[in-house]
Amino acid sequence: MSEKRWIPETLFDALGFRMTFAVEKVLYETQTEHQHLVLFEQKHFGKMLMLDGATQVTTRDEFIYHEMMTHVPILAHGAAKNVLIIGGGDCGIAEEVLKHKTLKSVVQVEIDESVVEFSKEHFPEFTKPVFRDKRFESVIDDGMKYVAETDRRFDVIIVDSTDPVGPGAVLFTKAFYSACKRCMSPGGVMVTQNGVPFFQPDELISSVGMFKSLFADGACYVAAIPTYVGGHMAMGWASKDKKLRQHPARTLEARYKKAGRFKTKYWTPEVHVAAFALPRFIAEHVKSAKKR
Ligand code: SAM
Repeated sequence: MSEKRWIPETLFDALGFRMTFAVEKVLYETQTEHQHLVLFEQKHFGKMLMLDGATQVTTRDEFIYHEMMTHVPILAHGAAKNVLIIGGGDCGIAEEVLKHKTLKSVVQVEIDESVVEFSKEHFPEFTKPVFRDKRFESVIDDGMKYVAETDRRFDVIIVDSTDPVGPGAVLFTKAFYSACKRCMSPGGVMVTQNGVPFFQPDELISSVGMFKSLFADGACYVAAIPTYVGGHMAMGWASKDKKLRQHPARTLEARYKKAGRFKTKYWTPEVHVAAFALPRFIAEHVKSAKKR
């Protein structure tokens, strides 16, 4: 019986910490033009995608991150028509966004075509409904280049990026956030994958400092995602309208009903409101983030 393969998450090597997964079966492994990609079956988490040693998505807990990165900004906005997704090659975010029947267009800009192509085979639960939806457009490009050049305008921008390493690093810069502001409609909002503050506080402080200097409102909200290890994960919040972050649950409930009251497993109007109530150590990181 061959030795079981174990695949480590190496994102926190600098902290002397790894989480390692026993592999039932490798489904796909390659070095793409941009990054190392491995997809494997895991006994507890189902299918797991790793890019450059960082967990991206697992079929067991994807719903938490995908629901909180989509329904929070779209329902906080309240009248979104056009959504831009930067990254998101597995199409899990797009699948969740398209549940909002009130939207007119969803553009996804993913740098690595291999991620989209292999997701069509291995994550059909995401890609089938997405590529069947006429409102969806898939663009293969660097998100930085796209937001700097597009003449389109978006009400909600969702940065579903890898961590600030490799091709993802540019998506954590002031040039990128400034270009996102440029292509954001008045009253718009951007949310970002901003790491786990317990392990990556500097990443959050840096992003929120730039949000505060570029937007009317710079903050974050949180959700606990089992495979993004380290407690709460922070989702960056940058909006042209301070009021977006202050809606009560009853307003969100009414908008959720109008959007089609689709099934969720994590997001509720109450969880949405509570997600902005930050544990003190995270609130202090946000408060300490100076305009930059
Ligand atoms: N949910 C995951 C997380 O929280 O880490 C992210 C999932 S998604 C797979 C991340 C995607 O961002 C990857 O497919 C990667 O190729 C893409 N990406 C990285 N840098 C990019 C860039 N500069 N422009 C567009 N997409 C980028």
